[in-house]
Amino acid sequence: MDEFALIDRFFANRGPVRADVRLGIGDDAAITRVDAGSELVIATDTLVEGTHFLPGTVPRSLGYRCLAVNLSDLAAMGAEPLWCTLSLTLPDGAADWVGSFAEGFMELAERFEIALIGGDTVRGPLAMTVTVHGRVDPGCAIRRAGAGAGDGIFVTGTFGAAAAGLASLRSGDAGAGSVARFLYPSPRIDAGRSLVGIASAMIDVSDGLHVDLARLLAASGLGATLAIETLPLPATAEPGRAVELALTGGDDYELCFTVPADRSEALELTACDWDCAVTRLGETHAESGLAWTAAGKTYPLPATGFRHFGADVP
Ligand code: ADP
Ligand code: MG
Repeated sequence: MDEFALIDRFFANRGPVRADVRLGIGDDAAITRVDAGSELVIATDTLVEGTHFLPGTVPRSLGYRCLAVNLSDLAAMGAEPLWCTLSLTLPDGAADWVGSFAEGFMELAERFEIALIGGDTVRGPLAMTVTVHGRVDPGCAIRRAGAGAGDGIFVTGTFGAAAAGLASLRSGDAGAGSVARFLYPSPRIDAGRSLVGIASAMIDVSDGLHVDLARLLAASGLGATLAIETLPLPATAEPGRAVELALTGGDDYELCFTVPADRSEALELTACDWDCAVTRLGETHAESGLAWTAAGKTYPLPATGFRHFGADVP
């Protein structure tokens, strides 16, 4: 199918209808109504075959995932999703493939009421770029900077399952239980939004808990010493590698945030409504650097994990 037919069939007039979209797909640009009392929060992320996902990955997962990783960035700011665009680079115009891709994309778009308002469709090596727009009340976005010394450090969900799932996929075991955690991550939009006014700093964990928490601490000019015994591990975790995967595996798309002591009750209250667990890892301290301990002794981080941080190579 040519690109106009693909856009018409799979992307135009699909997904949630929003009253603030004045003009969607089909013109030279989209038009949205911007609420005067809001700040726009904008993020973009690209997935490239061979760099971010394995060749042959099911298209439904790619459609879902390219939106999920972007929604996770909005979640980490405490923002409400509004609109998105999708730039799709395809080696060919296979309708089956694009149809399944669009299904995965629209499933998540419906769930979080984010409208697809435009994009681009071109030929080339398989890749997809999504840009998301969200809103917050003025001054209310939660940044990486802003944590205070002594604030509690918390995370949603568990860590390491996505990396274990990716390892299974690479070894040809697509049926492993953790594979879905890699293919279909859950962006923590509701948790993120409910942390506005509670969390002092926040980041989403895409590259691994260690490196992403270290980024939050560096941005806030702080450090922490945390016990690996507190790490929330998935029930299916393989004992030997669980801690390494949790700290350095990546692709979890959970939230990591700090909360001042006088707001911990507010956190407890709001976290009751979440569909994921929340775990306290410890607290920040004024001295910079992030260290982990096991049974009270310094826990050595695997050096290879460090070198691969952010590389995300399947
Ligand atoms: P132009 O030539 O003006 O850039 P295009 O022919 O690329 O316009 O796109 C036509 C319309 O389809 C535009 O509204 C554009 O935003 C939209 N569009 C193109 N590709 C996609 C896509 N993959 N997903 C959503 N909308 C798309
Ligand atoms: Mg174009």
